[in-house]
Amino acid sequence: MDMMTMNLSQFKECQKTINTVLIPIGMIEAHGPHCALGTDVLIPREFVGRLNDVLDKKILMAPEITYGHSWGLAPFAGTIDVSSEVFINYVFEICKGFQQNGFKNIILFNGHGGNISSLDIVTEKLADLEVSTLTINWFIDYREDIKQIAPHPGHAGEDETSLILAINKNYAYTSGVGSHETPIQKRFRFKDGGKTLYPEAFSGNAEAATVEKGEQLFHMLTTLIVEDIETFWELEQIQGGRIDDITVDA
Ligand SMILES: [Zn+2]
Repeated sequence: MDMMTMNLSQFKECQKTINTVLIPIGMIEAHGPHCALGTDVLIPREFVGRLNDVLDKKILMAPEITYGHSWGLAPFAGTIDVSSEVFINYVFEICKGFQQNGFKNIILFNGHGGNISSLDIVTEKLADLEVSTLTINWFIDYREDIKQIAPHPGHAGEDETSLILAINKNYAYTSGVGSHETPIQKRFRFKDGGKTLYPEAFSGNAEAATVEKGEQLFHMLTTLIVEDIETFWELEQIQGGRIDDITVDA
């Protein structure tokens, strides 16, 4: 159910039968020299269309949050960075608006790594309001599965570039782009550190990306994500809206 094109009468009907909203969250930022700046919005948008085909009538698909937080890629042209403080409050307020409209289950479909720590805080605050959440960080949650199809994933790497090519061949190129292995990620922080981690604003083997891999990834990941959403609903019923209680920390 697409909220963007729904009228008020349709929305009121939707409130009677649906208690879950999915909010896509992205970023506008440098994705190497070769991928669209809106990669982290375009990929969630495509997933939303595919999930809607499977889960229509069960989930309200909300309009996407386009801008996010990117400390790492902020030194590169094309990155429009919102501070984590503002981003956390902005996403939280949007989620609270959905809660006040009767949606007690919220799926945050995140396309961007720099958003993750902020979204963790948002979901903790929401749990305190008895809103249950599932955050999907597709590029991390299914990384081992992704490697079966795209062995060298990364930021604008083999996985993201393949997905973008599958969306539209004009939104990325691979010729002459090459490959950057990401150094082991420790908790180092220094000014413009992202330039070391992402020498040309990307990591992974972008040159190995193909349309076919992108289509395979979309197909596989959509299946895995649907399974996780169904698990979310099962757990939400068991836990009575306190899924955060079963999160296991290392
Ligand atoms: Zn990305």
